[in-house]
Amino acid sequence: MHHVVILGGSYAGIAALRKLQKEKTLRITLIDRHPYHYLQTEGYELIAGDTYFDNTIVNLTSLCANFPNVTFRHAVVEEIDKEARTVTLSDGTVAYDTLIIALGAVTKRFECDTEVYNYSSGAKSLRGALKLNRFFQDELYKRLESAKHAKENFNIIIGGAGLSGVEIAASMQHFFNDYYRSNTLSCKTLNIHLIASRETVLHGMHPRVIALTTKRLESLHVAIHTQSRIKSIDAHEALLESGEKIPFDFMIFAGGTTTTPVLESFDVPKNRKGQILVDPYLKVPDNEHIYVVGDAAALKNAEGNPLPPTAMTAIASGRTAAENLLRIYHGKTPKVAKLRIKGIAIALGGKYAVIDIHILRLSGYPAYLMKKIIEKSYKWPLWYLARKGYRQIAACEI
Ligand SMILES: Cc1cc2nc3c(=O)[nH]c(=O)nc-3n(C[C@H](O)[C@H](O)[C@H](O)COP(=O)(O)OP(=O)(O)OC[C@H]3O[C@@H](n4cnc5c(N)ncnc54)[C@H](O)[C@@H]3O)c2cc1C
Repeated sequence: MHHVVILGGSYAGIAALRKLQKEKTLRITLIDRHPYHYLQTEGYELIAGDTYFDNTIVNLTSLCANFPNVTFRHAVVEEIDKEARTVTLSDGTVAYDTLIIALGAVTKRFECDTEVYNYSSGAKSLRGALKLNRFFQDELYKRLESAKHAKENFNIIIGGAGLSGVEIAASMQHFFNDYYRSNTLSCKTLNIHLIASRETVLHGMHPRVIALTTKRLESLHVAIHTQSRIKSIDAHEALLESGEKIPFDFMIFAGGTTTTPVLESFDVPKNRKGQILVDPYLKVPDNEHIYVVGDAAALKNAEGNPLPPTAMTAIASGRTAAENLLRIYHGKTPKVAKLRIKGIAIALGGKYAVIDIHILRLSGYPAYLMKKIIEKSYKWPLWYLARKGYRQIAACEI
């Protein structure tokens, strides 16, 4: 039986899996270091304490239990050998006929010592989001309990003003503003400093989206530092290239991503960000057996321009790679990937969002409702499958 191995069970890997499982003559193994798919696109709510972490995950064992030709392996990928067509895992080795790499990317962090490390996190993992949320809750609690602490400023620096940076800044600030008003003014000030290296937040997006987002951030009192780069960070102080020093209690890295460590030693052409270059069919050039999808790949649109890393392109690339794999498996010609950003939805605290779907730009509550519909239409079918799979597993165990 042709064995397809999918590395990474998130947006891109699951999209490929759902398409491939329909071909029952394939044997599929999905591998992830976590037993869950973390919904990064909902991370902003978790960080701000608006939701419980269980709402932001999909269990991979239960999900895969729905498909008789799919096995889930909870293991860390350690090495890919493209000549031997094997993958070394933390608990053994697996051989493949076709490999789909959907390992995403990791947060690019500043070199920092343990002291800074303990007071900082990225937002791309569930662990990072929880660390940040716990710190946030602890600090609020400290200020609630003690009059001395209540007077202290609480500074958070968010390094990076792209999609994730602005969503986190707005959600945390909104949560805090509400908390401050409704809890007897027990904290003095939460200062969120959003550091944008370019002249605006959300650089590269439509000017109207940038304008609406900036207005919203300003109305929430997020301090936006444009054309600023962090030069160095010390325990509780960031030095900007302009010479300005900003004290911080917690630092969130949202300024960019880099290749996931296991792919660093994978000897294939990559771009400056460490993403693997792919051909128009999403394969590694000159290799018939390996596809790369999602944030791990240097994806381009039909005009050949680089696409930003989003869940939407991750899903589309996962589906396209699966389709091409199936076409080749059935002796047909693969199709050139036609990837594009259909729109973007940005949550900006409370029941406010900004949506850009090219023909239409919405802000406020209607945009928030649309954002929620987009999130739920992705999550609910997966939850439904995971619950169905769980019932099957539970029935077998009785
Ligand atoms: C806070 C935040 C908000 C965002 N908001 C949006 C949004 O609103 N809309 C949008 O479209 N995009 C958004 N994004 C971007 C989006 O989440 C990513 O583009 C998307 O997650 C990429 O999906 P992926 O499947 O390629 O990789 P990932 O989601 O990063 O998944 C990679 C998977 O590989 C696994 N893995 C990695 N290394 C190993 C290893 N060595 N062994 C085993 N498993 C491994 C990981 O556990 C993970 O499950 C947001 C991102 C963040 C951080």
